[in-house]
Amino acid sequence: MDLNQLIDIDCNHIWHPYSSMTEPLPVYPVESAERCSIRLKDGRVLTDGMSSWWAAVHGYNHPVLNEAVEKQLKQMSHVMFGGLTHEPAVKLTEKLLALTPPLLQKVFYCDSGSVAVEVAMKMALQYWIAQQKSEKSKFATIRSGYHGDTWNAMSICDPETGMHHIFNKALPIQFFAPQPNCRFGEDKVQNDLAAMEAILEKHHQELAAIILEPIVQGAGGMWFYSSDYLKGVRQLCDQYKVLLIADEIATGFGRTGKLFACEHAGIEPDIMCLGKAITGGYMSFAATLTTTKVAETISRGEPGVFMHGPTFMANPLACAVAIASIELLLNSGWQNKVMHIEAKLKMGLEACKELHNVSDVRCLGAIGVVELKQAVDMTAVQKHFVELGVWVRPFGKNVYFMPPFIITDEELTKLCEAVYKVVKREGER
Ligand code: PMP
Repeated sequence: MDLNQLIDIDCNHIWHPYSSMTEPLPVYPVESAERCSIRLKDGRVLTDGMSSWWAAVHGYNHPVLNEAVEKQLKQMSHVMFGGLTHEPAVKLTEKLLALTPPLLQKVFYCDSGSVAVEVAMKMALQYWIAQQKSEKSKFATIRSGYHGDTWNAMSICDPETGMHHIFNKALPIQFFAPQPNCRFGEDKVQNDLAAMEAILEKHHQELAAIILEPIVQGAGGMWFYSSDYLKGVRQLCDQYKVLLIADEIATGFGRTGKLFACEHAGIEPDIMCLGKAITGGYMSFAATLTTTKVAETISRGEPGVFMHGPTFMANPLACAVAIASIELLLNSGWQNKVMHIEAKLKMGLEACKELHNVSDVRCLGAIGVVELKQAVDMTAVQKHFVELGVWVRPFGKNVYFMPPFIITDEELTKLCEAVYKVVKREGER
């Protein structure tokens, strides 16, 4: 297809994430992607800093993942999951149970991260409804969180700085504790926990669960908070009889240096959401895991079943590629790679700390964040990154990136230097 025609149809007819149909921002047509590179249709090749939003941990066009999809495609691409089952779903379940906290024994497969969050919230509600405690129907969370774009997921995103505040009047009202101030690696969490406890003390009888992103808050602020806070929240949930939902959709599968971020605090949630990197970024797919206790309580109550069942539940292609991706991860020495990326990011971004427009630089696992004093001009910054041959997509005040784990040292250096140059030029605007 002619490049101009492609761009013309795209910008006139296709919505992109959070985009306008009257003033569309530029989009860059992609020809192909391979390892850590995205090749644009105009011939330029960009080093990928985003892993397509946390997902493509093994890079693009991986022969092992391609083969898993091709093999499954010849068996069946999909069958309904009502009344039928298949080996890809069962094998994936075995793998997930072996990796996730031991109390999590029951798995619900769904299509995307947001749906996994909806499912988690419904599980928590049904758990209490089954015990004749339907008044426990609200959720508590922390400010600056992000959990997805569907209805209930929107209600637990940050109500002011998040992307959904215009819908506030239509959304269920939830309880928000302040964002934990105490940074990752520090332990002064008393004030942060006191604020959460105040909510529980007053409202525990109406609360079904606390939901949060463990350790790393992603799209809502790219903030890394203390593992002691997470530990404390687990204790508060036990004390006040409220479930704990860990949204590991962004953090799961090694991104923070642990396979799951809950491991930093040594805690087990009652419900856990997985997505994004579960298929190595190949397909939209997610899972919500829960304990035997929660699952059996739901199943013994009215109406005797969990009330959810998507058309594409446990899609065999997605399950097959998820199995291959997990095996690849476990056999890749992922932890050393992620720790190496962290060390390189810390060194590579050090220079940004000196820039007058930077307020903070933080790195954890394979995540680097340069927080500016003011929001960036996204279109200009994006263009500058592309000119420098890298793909980094900033948001608000944060220039952040989370590359595929297979990134080379040279590619990391290129990314860090590009970030420095772009942030420096932003400061000169
Ligand atoms: N939870 C978290 C922590 C996320 O980062 C995201 C996606 N950015 C979601 C939920 C929603 O996932 P999806 O976009 O697949 O619906």
